[in-house]
Amino acid sequence: MADNKFVYIFGNNDTEGKNSMKDLLGGKGANLAEMSNLGIPVPVGFTITTEVCTLYLKNGQYPLGLEEHIDNAIKQLESTTKKNFGDLKNPLLLSVRSGARVSMPGMMDTVLNLGLNDDSVVGLATKTGNERFAYDSYRRFLTMFANVVLDIDHDKFESALSSKKKDKCVKQDNDLEVEDLKELVEKFKTIIKDETGKEFPQNAREQLQMAIDAVFSSWNNQRAKTYRKLNGIPREWGTAVNVQSMVYGNMGETSGTGVAFTRDPATGEKRFFGEYLINAQGEDVVAGIRTPQPIKTLKNTMPKVYDQLVDIYMKLEDHFKEMQDIEFTIEKGKLFMLQTRTGKRTAAAAIKIATEMVEEGLIDKDTALLRVEPEQIDRLLHPNIDPTSTYEVMATGLPASPGAAVGEVVFTAEHAEEMAKNGEKTILVRAETSPEDIGGMNAAEGILTVRGGMTSHAAVVARGMGKPCVAGCGEITIDIKEKIFNVGDYTIKEGDMISIDGSTGNVILGEVELILPGVTDELETILKWADEVRTLKVRTNADTPHDAEVARDFGAEGIGLCRTEHMFFGEDRIPAVREMIMAEDIESRKIALKKLLPMQREDFIGIFKAMEGFPVTIRLLDPPLHEFLPVHEEVMEKLRELESSDASQEEMERVKKIGERIEYLKEINPMLGHRGCRLGITYPEIYEMQAQAIIEAACELSKDGMKIVPEIMIPLVSHVKELEFVKKHVTTVVESVMEEMGIKLDYLLGTMIELPRAVLTADQIAKEAEFFSFGTNDLTQTTFGFSRDDAGKFLPFYLESGILEDDPFAVLDQDGVGQLVKIGIEKGRSTRPDIKIGICGEHGGEPKSIKFGHNVGLNYVSCSPFRVPIARLAAAHAVLENKQ
Ligand code: ADP
Ligand code: MG
Ligand code: MG
Repeated sequence: MADNKFVYIFGNNDTEGKNSMKDLLGGKGANLAEMSNLGIPVPVGFTITTEVCTLYLKNGQYPLGLEEHIDNAIKQLESTTKKNFGDLKNPLLLSVRSGARVSMPGMMDTVLNLGLNDDSVVGLATKTGNERFAYDSYRRFLTMFANVVLDIDHDKFESALSSKKKDKCVKQDNDLEVEDLKELVEKFKTIIKDETGKEFPQNAREQLQMAIDAVFSSWNNQRAKTYRKLNGIPREWGTAVNVQSMVYGNMGETSGTGVAFTRDPATGEKRFFGEYLINAQGEDVVAGIRTPQPIKTLKNTMPKVYDQLVDIYMKLEDHFKEMQDIEFTIEKGKLFMLQTRTGKRTAAAAIKIATEMVEEGLIDKDTALLRVEPEQIDRLLHPNIDPTSTYEVMATGLPASPGAAVGEVVFTAEHAEEMAKNGEKTILVRAETSPEDIGGMNAAEGILTVRGGMTSHAAVVARGMGKPCVAGCGEITIDIKEKIFNVGDYTIKEGDMISIDGSTGNVILGEVELILPGVTDELETILKWADEVRTLKVRTNADTPHDAEVARDFGAEGIGLCRTEHMFFGEDRIPAVREMIMAEDIESRKIALKKLLPMQREDFIGIFKAMEGFPVTIRLLDPPLHEFLPVHEEVMEKLRELESSDASQEEMERVKKIGERIEYLKEINPMLGHRGCRLGITYPEIYEMQAQAIIEAACELSKDGMKIVPEIMIPLVSHVKELEFVKKHVTTVVESVMEEMGIKLDYLLGTMIELPRAVLTADQIAKEAEFFSFGTNDLTQTTFGFSRDDAGKFLPFYLESGILEDDPFAVLDQDGVGQLVKIGIEKGRSTRPDIKIGICGEHGGEPKSIKFGHNVGLNYVSCSPFRVPIARLAAAHAVLENKQ
């Protein structure tokens, strides 16, 4: 025998695995073993390791000795169950279940009742005295085996079953009689023969081998690949296979099957939550075959089983110190556990559970923080329906995943994906969803299904994705051919606008008003804990007092980027701005700037007030001037109009001049053109006016006793001499304002670092700059040489073909741009050790980039107001992950 151990027993006294062996046994196998170790009833079985999967997929064959290991394990199952595999009178039946390291819901399918054939089904019927049960099991086995192992379309069997039910005028599978099931079995075998050209394999060991092969191969099927890609799961992990003796939930009224969560996965509330079906097997509950019953009714129907289940779930939660998602089956009043794993939950539930488990003494604060993903907070701040609005509810289904969504109706996943590519919002409406729909679910704003319960595929996946979902809305009938759905008196066509509310289950006609919720007490607690741990400061990007206030409520500790150009676009300002740009000499430019000065001062007063006590970094004018002028076409049009009317010569001249100025200012490549400090150097009076407005505003508020901390930031510096030049002009103004107002104010003057040359000469620049702010948008653009405005033409292809893993404008490119950030920090600190360094731009609110920022020693990140809470938590995670 080979040295390697390929097979691990669980479910009896010889259990070999445990929870910490997830890498080898997969999550399902490791936890089945762990439950056995805890004395919880688990049907006996064995796990074939993930190593076998990796070897099999690499070499195209199994490691030597595997077969013998499997045969030995089966012998153990036989002796524990007192049944024999392949036996005709007393057959041991098996389930074959996949199970990777992390749970991949619905990705790889399970085969139940394996080992049945034309003879043993008779034996099983005789042995149990339940012919109906035996044939029900056989027809299920044939369907699953055909689908999972032989790759025959599930619909073929489904429609045979449906037409049988129609013939018999019954609604439920359970209403079919033995004779019907026998006929179905024959029909199913014919389908298999027709589809594969071969008879259905009658040999149990052969069936088992084929099923094991299929599970391992399924690691590389399209659905699994898509899921792995969406969730960042490496291909090398592989899956384990669990082979387990069957227990039967389909043996009559005292049998059943169910799924449950130890806490409410939608709200996090501490209550046992789940569903079950009597006389059912496997995934009937999840697939929405019949509408399941809420778990609490089990208390009445089978009180003993219910109590036992409660004991078990509490034991499991206490042991794993985590909310568990469990699967169980009851065979003639006897309870068996078939799975336990960490339960998926909504963002709100994650936060509630984490904080409450700390209160209960189950976990510590650090663990609680790590249990909430920074991105999850984003979902909490996602829209809900404005409670003051009125709307028309067409129907109500199950509130399967909270939040509200608005979009055009689509009926297929592909359609949702197409629409999303064009930036269009959709609601995906399906009878029920399956793993093939994942891409479309991800692309849609929300999901609406006709069938299925709170634990249906749609519900589970939507909650994981943070998408609003209404499930099991049975009032709806979909007509796929006509591309419509009917509900009550309504007929909704593809492309019609609807809204769904995943918190109430409402399906609403047309478009509702959405609002953003605030921060809950529990989120407040988590963020407070995060603040205790993190060392990185979090500021916000804000151009208005309103944004500054919102950000401050979210916990921002200052403004890292206040752009001044947005202020110039105001209706009351643009005439003066244009006058300034049109000015042909410095004197007339100064006159125009004088008009702007008081307005700018008011802007800054508002923002300083909103951020009182915290630093506010104001960036002087950055974009090229032509952005403030009308489009050339429009001006030419106007000129033609004037020519055909009898406008005065003077008016014509004026418009013509604007046209000429636009032509003059036009640039081939404005992103690399006359912008940033280049403006401040050619027109110093612009920056002088801005500096004056900033310092006047700050002095005025200081006089009233407020603590104002202005930081003036010069954009697009590439050479220290640029900074020197601008600095001289700015400082002269600042000094003279302070002298005039009789106030001495602390302020800083610093620069953006957003060009590679600035990074490479950061030591020189730091001599003149009191702070650096990495403008990672421009730095990414100039490092890659990717024009941000044109990258849309090729970046998607780069991502699809794997040339780039992430969009570098969304996730900081640590290997390239990140290296520049590092160099910039080192060089900057080499000449000014206490220089304050931050990052602004999209990356400042992106968790991976934030963690990187922490690790390279930034002082702060700055992000949009709604991402401030995310950044606070990500910064704490950075500290905790380094500790681990
Ligand atoms: P998934 O990974 O999709 O959850 P599982 O391997 O858990 O798939 O199997 C799906 C369902 O099949 C289980 O929830 C359970 O109801 C049923 N099942 C699996 N193994 C057994 C078994 N040994 N006896 C009875 N039912 C089983
Ligand atoms: Mg499944
Ligand atoms: Mg399962």
